[in-house]
Parts: sequence; C-alpha cells; structure tokens
Amino acid sequence: GATTHSSAAENVKTREKEASIPFTRPSKADSTLTIVVVGASGDLARNKIFPAFFALFYDDQLPEDFTIFGYGRSPMTDEELRITISKTLNCRVDKRENCHDKISQFLKRCFYHSGQYSSEEHFLELDNRIREKESAQGGKISNRLYYLAVPPTQFVDVVRCANRRASSDNGWTRVIVEKPFGRDSESSKKLTRDLKQYLNEDQIFRIDHHLGEELFENLLVLRFSNLVFEPLWSRDYIRNVQIIFSKDFGVEGRGRYFDNYGIIRDVMQNHLLQLLALFAMETPVTLDAEDIRNEKVKVLRSIKPVSIEDVVVGQYKGYTEGNMSVPGYTDDPTVSNNSLTPTFAAAILSINNSRWDGVPFMMVAGKALHSKRVEIRVQFRHVPGNLFNRNFGNNLNNATNELVIQVQPDEAVYLKINNKVPGLGMRLDRSDLNLLFKKRYPREAPEAYERLLLDAMRGERRLFIRSDELDAAWAVFTPLLKELEQKKTAPELYPYASEGPVGVHYLGAKHHIRCV
Ligand code: NDP
Repeated sequence: GATTHSSAAENVKTREKEASIPFTRPSKADSTLTIVVVGASGDLARNKIFPAFFALFYDDQLPEDFTIFGYGRSPMTDEELRITISKTLNCRVDKRENCHDKISQFLKRCFYHSGQYSSEEHFLELDNRIREKESAQGGKISNRLYYLAVPPTQFVDVVRCANRRASSDNGWTRVIVEKPFGRDSESSKKLTRDLKQYLNEDQIFRIDHHLGEELFENLLVLRFSNLVFEPLWSRDYIRNVQIIFSKDFGVEGRGRYFDNYGIIRDVMQNHLLQLLALFAMETPVTLDAEDIRNEKVKVLRSIKPVSIEDVVVGQYKGYTEGNMSVPGYTDDPTVSNNSLTPTFAAAILSINNSRWDGVPFMMVAGKALHSKRVEIRVQFRHVPGNLFNRNFGNNLNNATNELVIQVQPDEAVYLKINNKVPGLGMRLDRSDLNLLFKKRYPREAPEAYERLLLDAMRGERRLFIRSDELDAAWAVFTPLLKELEQKKTAPELYPYASEGPVGVHYLGAKHHIRCV
C-alpha cells in the first residue's frame, strides 16, 4: 500500500544520498533491478524502449543484476517477445565486434508476462515471476522500474495493480508515464490525483522525450556558464524569441491519437513550453532537480494564458500536381472527415515578470510543412545610433544580431553577427559564428530515451515534469483550447509542404516579429 511506498521512498532517498555521484554500477550484492515494460506489444515499446535499454546495456550502464519483463494483454511467450524485439536492437554505440553476443546476453534477461491491465491477480502472477528472478540473483534490495507504454486510459489501473501486487517491498518502485498527461487542466489534475492514490510524487517520472535531447541540457550550460549571454538575456536586449517546431510530414495513417489532441496539446503545451521555461527561467540555486524545477514553475506561472487574438491555427490540405496527388489531413483514413483539429498553430506568449515584460515569445508548430526543424531564434534589438547603417547592402538595413539554438535537423548554435567584408572601403555583411555539433563532436549522441531511462534508474528527476509544473503548463493553454473548441474555430488551410498559413505573417507583424 501507500505506506509501504512512502517508507520505501524514504529508504531510497537515504540510499541515493549515500550513493556516490556520478552514478557507479552497484555491486552484485547491493541490489537487483527489474524493469517492467507495460504495453510491450506496442510500437513505442518495440521501437524506442527496448532499444534504449539495450543501448544502455551495451554501454555498461545497466546494473549487473537486471531483468526486463514485458507485460501486455497479447499472448506471447518469452521467446516470441525476444524474436520481436531482436529486430529493433542495434549496436550503434561504437559498432564493437561483440554486438551479437551482447544482443543474445540482453535477450536472455528479457521475459514476457501476459495479463490484463486491471487484474490484480495477473500482476500477482507477474510479482511471483519477478521474485523468482530476484532471489536467483541473490540481491538484498530489489528495485522495480515500470514503464507505462500503454494508452493513458490504462495508467491508473496499471498503477493500482502494480502498487498493490507487484511493487518492491524493500527497495524503490518507480513508474515512468508517457504523455499525454490529460487534455486540459482539469483532466490533468484528475490524472495526477488518481495516480497519487497509489504513488508518491517522487515515484512518478513524467516523461517528455524531447527533454532527453542534448540541447535541453545544453541550454542551461549555454546560458549559465557563458558570461557573454546571460547579461543580454532580458527585455533590455532581446526583441523577441521564436520557438519553432516544424515537421515535413503529416499524420500519414497514424492520426487516431493526433486527431483527438491536435498540435497545441501534442507539442506546444509540453515540449515547446519546456524549451521556453528553460530559456526564460531565472538562475536556479543549484543544478538539483528541485531547484531547476522550482525555477521552471515560477516562470511558467508568470506566463499569461494565451489569448485567442494572438493565435493562428491551421490544417494542411492535399493537392494534385500532374499525376501525383498528396492527401490532406482530413483525407487520412485515421482522421474524421470534418475534423477541425489544428495540425499547425502559432501563438504569442507573454511573460509577466520584470525580465521579460513586453518581449513576445512566438511559438510556431506544425506538421506537413516545407522543412524539418526545431529551433529557438533569439532576435536582439538593434544597435542604437546609425553609425554603420549606410554601409550595409540594400536589404541589410538595421541588421540585428540573432542567436539560433537549433535542435533539428542538426544540433547547432549559431550567432548572426555583422562583419566587415574584406577589401578596400567599408562594406558590412552578416555572417555566422557557428557551432555545429556533429562537426565538433563526431561521436554519435545517445538517443533521448537512453538518457531519460538512465536518469529514472538513478533517481535523477531534473528532466522529468513535476506535477505543479504540469498544472502551470496547462494553465497557459487550457482557456485557449476551450475557446477554440467552443467556437468551433475553423483552421486556416495550408497546402502540404508549404510554409503554413499566411495568417502567421500578420500575427508576426502585429508584434513586430520578422518570421523566418
Ligand atoms: P499502442 O497503441 O501501440 O499501444 C501500446 C499497447 O497498449 C498495445 O500494444 C496494446 O497492448 C495496448 N493497448 C492499445 N490500445 C489499448 C486499449 N484501448 N486498451 C487497452 N490496451 C491497449 O501505443 P504506442 O506504443 O504507440 O504508445 C504507447 C503510449 O505512449 C501511448 O499513450 C502514446 O500516446 C504514448 N506515446 C507514444 C509515442 C510513440 O512514439 N509511439 C511517443 C510519445 C508518446 P496489448 O493489446 O498487448 O495489451
């Protein structure tokens, strides 16, 4: 029950404090780890979760005594699970020669248990099988990590059954939950309340896999370890900030989930707001998870709820060119014919604090656009006076500095600066100071899920979302979502692979933002 959990959680806290940081592999006698992937027959489990655990195993990051159980309703034997997941494992780390050995060693630790998500009896059976492995491993402390790769309708049942019948009685039990965390403030709060009937906040790891991307971590380093940026990070020097998330494909037959949520819930309320929070928050007291999350909550709570006047919503439409025909959003068989779900949105957010007062933060997110990119663009104010203005080429009047923090297609940080063109006379040009990560650091970076799973095992919560943070994030978008739905606002149509709705340029112009 919950009491066992809180004392287990206390134990964990003490042990985690004692454990040396950085993480070292616990010795054999110390503890065992059982990972339960709930929904093991699904896409997410097969394509992301098992491969990420394997990559960690390959990189010697898993504890010595670990076991992985897949759980789901589909009937499957251990061997069938192994065959299925073996197809998605690969040794990307550094292509060492023992790849096959490593895969077979890993698969030997993988098992499957078939059961219903709401059956305590089935979870008890799972518990028995887990205990068998734990005692064979001779571990004194047995820790359990659940990964919920099932639709959110199943979360509470699984947590109830796992808590009552299959949680650790001497170590920690943690649960990783995938988004969506509700669809508005009320449903999100309800989900949190329901989960907290069975779990403490520190057992819940809300995952937003974009937070495991390299640049999320690097944003903190960039801001707080370089003297040159932080003094400029305010309304005094920054004119506007654009946070852009653009995909060059549509739902392509996978619209069932998306049609129910739309781009604002799918991308803006979580990933983009997280990027904004890390970008705009004050300096945290330390790098501890709670200190960082406290600052994120503060800045999220300072954001005014988005107003419908400051939003453009769009939906992609198909077109035919010669004998090629591209389907629009509502042509997709997984989407309803008269769907008003936005596949694109642009919104202006304002942060009501002394650092950011008056600086528009423009979020742009869309599917089926002409390019694939995820980036933050920071446009600085112009240099006062006009000393050099006449030395620019025609279209470079008032060229201001711009800092671009790019997550996709390639991770990069570049600063647009003004520069003299070599030669006689004084002619100015804009160039980039450019840090392209794959050039500077050619070693392949780990997948976002690897970092997050490792953090969850270590009990590092920095990249997971706390419940008050989630509440603050929903508060920014819930009134807008309700209004769009009540008014049945029709999205502006834009052609597949275009730049998106024209309305975005008007929205930008209203806030003096030059959109790129
Ligand atoms: P799936 O639809 O493939 O579901 C995973 C498993 O859950 C299925 O194999 C099935 O297992 C079980 N399941 C599916 N539908 C139901 C249902 N209605 N009732 C009970 N059980 C059901 O989802 P994904 O694997 O794609 O994703 C899992 C979760 O992660 C979802 O909540 C999704 O929103 C989220 N997510 C997924 C991402 C992805 O990349 N796919 C990315 C981010 C989030 P069985 O029949 O064996 O019980």
